[in-house]
Amino acid sequence: MAKPLPLTMRWDLPEWAHGLVDPEQRFPTVEERMAVAVELSRRNMEEETGDPFGAAVFDLSTSLPLAVGVNVVVPSATVAAHGEVVALCLAGVAVGNYDLEVAVGGPVELVTSCAPCMMCQGATVGSGVSSLVIAARENDTHSLGLGGSRRPPEWVVRLQQQGIDVTEDVLRAEAVDVLREYAARGGRK
Ligand SMILES: [Zn+2]
Repeated sequence: MAKPLPLTMRWDLPEWAHGLVDPEQRFPTVEERMAVAVELSRRNMEEETGDPFGAAVFDLSTSLPLAVGVNVVVPSATVAAHGEVVALCLAGVAVGNYDLEVAVGGPVELVTSCAPCMMCQGATVGSGVSSLVIAARENDTHSLGLGGSRRPPEWVVRLQQQGIDVTEDVLRAEAVDVLREYAARGGRK
């Protein structure tokens, strides 16, 4: 008998991510918030639990975290499990609504250790966040030979036209350090 088609799926963050971020800790500066995403990317690289990308979602009214995410594409065998999508989806679970700003009644920010791909940009728009903060640039992954999909040159402007405030290069050097070490280890296992 043929195996039945799958009817459900799940994404689990790695064990090391459990309890990594205190839900009651405030992260008032953008550098503090980005440090969470970069730390997630570093741990995911060091523990070999996915590609070296991390993201986090914050309620800017309180500076409290709503959710974190790392890339779990390989361990979950699901192509959509990029760090940004995982963080945005878990934030939706946390607040009970995919539209995060409607749910919390104020501004919400996505911080990501690397420039989001087109899929993650779409999820960013759909999630209703008004602020996107990026560490490493697309060219940082390409110059290290890590590949990844190409974005159209005007993607930042397109997001801004949809009401999303985009900030680049926050802790870029720290995020590139992680990517450089990942490339030195030989990339995806
Ligand atoms: Zn992505």
